Amino acid sequence: MSKTHLRRQCQGTTRTGNECRMQPLKGSKWCWNHDPKVVADRAHARSRGGAAGKRATPSEMAGTISLQGPQEALLLLEVAANETLALDNSAGRNRTLVQIALAWARVWEAVALEHRVRALESPSLVGAVPHPTTTGERS
Ligand SMILES: [Zn+2]
Repeated sequence: MSKTHLRRQCQGTTRTGNECRMQPLKGSKWCWNHDPKVVADRAHARSRGGAAGKRATPSEMAGTISLQGPQEALLLLEVAANETLALDNSAGRNRTLVQIALAWARVWEAVALEHRVRALESPSLVGAVPHPTTTGERS
């Protein structure tokens, strides 16, 4: 149970009063839904759109984040998933959720592979694994 808290987690609280389980934005203690700066940006975007009180759509929120890498892409997908989950159940909603899950898995896989490659290329490992061109020299 405690292992779930090893992941960086947003300091915010959801509307139902539970702790927010979203991953915080880079350099922030809060996720996209709770970061005061993003919330202010969103309110501004809303007032500009003239639709006061209306919840920001994922595309409105996407306007407040810069997609600098896979972590932001994962965050975007997470927000899209939450927005979609908030909709009434329908075949289209389920299709969208499946697509989000597949896209999320694809990005996640790329991130995991990148981490593994980086670990393999780390200086501490250089020399530890015999390189094919150097092992041939012994004969
Ligand atoms: Zn949050």
